[in-house]
Amino acid sequence: MKKVIITGVTGQDGSHMADYLLQETDHTVIAGVRRLSVKNHGNIEHLIGNPRFCLIDLDVTDAENIDRVISKHKPDYFVNFAANSFVGTSWEMPVNHMQTNCMAVLHQLEAIRKHSPHCRYYNAGSSEEFGDVICEPQSEEHPLRPRSPYGASKCAARHLVKVYRDSYDLYAVQGWLFNHEGTRRGVEFVTRKITQAVAQIASDYATELPFDSLKLGNVESKRDWSDSEDFVDGIWKMLNQEGKPADYVLSSDETHTIKEFVEEAFNFAGFHRSICRWEGEGVETKYYHANDLLMEVDPKFYRPAEVDLLLGDSSRARDELGWQPKTNFTNLVHKMVKHDMDLLT
Ligand code: GDP
Repeated sequence: MKKVIITGVTGQDGSHMADYLLQETDHTVIAGVRRLSVKNHGNIEHLIGNPRFCLIDLDVTDAENIDRVISKHKPDYFVNFAANSFVGTSWEMPVNHMQTNCMAVLHQLEAIRKHSPHCRYYNAGSSEEFGDVICEPQSEEHPLRPRSPYGASKCAARHLVKVYRDSYDLYAVQGWLFNHEGTRRGVEFVTRKITQAVAQIASDYATELPFDSLKLGNVESKRDWSDSEDFVDGIWKMLNQEGKPADYVLSSDETHTIKEFVEEAFNFAGFHRSICRWEGEGVETKYYHANDLLMEVDPKFYRPAEVDLLLGDSSRARDELGWQPKTNFTNLVHKMVKHDMDLLT
């Protein structure tokens, strides 16, 4: 039985990857978790007790710890999702982002090179690496032009992965994952912030309670959103292709504004778009249902530097890996709003 180490398994992508591997393969999943005084195991509770799922203490910023774990388990795969993944806070904690998103990758690559060179390694890369984009859509050929400490940390990690792949013949890859969301998304991301607020507003509205409008930052930026569950399938395909290891873009190949996400989410929750309207522009943007203010812009949610538009071109992954996403934008929004509405009933 092969061994797969997953880091960041309590997060959205790590927990979906664990689910996927337990369903689709007969491998053992060794799930690395950081020891915290308050447990955050909500996304993996259903896996505890599965004989093919075992939890170990793992702190990716501790080089000694990584070295010991890889030397002990000699994994066949190592999937690194442990990261500080929120662009917005990366200006507040740039050093932490470099340590967790880049230095940790170096520790992992070094330990794999020394103790388990047959191990296939995946590091989570991001469309934020393209940053200040010069063309659309963005494929694997687009230059790296990060706009945030987060994006810069992922670019640095990407160079290390490639250097180790070329220098030591390791099977090491880093996908460019465009935004990917779902019911396990953290509320610090705009999609989940919207779907939670929409569910709360719909619930208050139905019971005729007063409600607070949803407050957002830049609603004009455009993102290419997919379902995280589709992406773990793409990542596994990247790790198991027969040809040479390569980095691939995963994306829906569609882009939508934050406004479109807001509109679709409210529409699904019963605030039909035919009786809703947008007013104003920029910081004055507001969304109304008749006379009720559903959403308004609060400049405090603007960022020091913005990535205005992300639109992926995942044709290489589709052609070479046979990867095909199942969930489109509308279905993703509906799934997330429904989940948040169900949580309130
Ligand atoms: P990112 O693409 O990884 O930065 O994902 P986010 O979900 O954090 O942000 C997506 C876009 O939504 C960015 O352009 C943000 O500036 C924009 N945005 C607008 N309002 C908000 C907000 O209240 N919270 C967050 N997180 N993003 C917001």
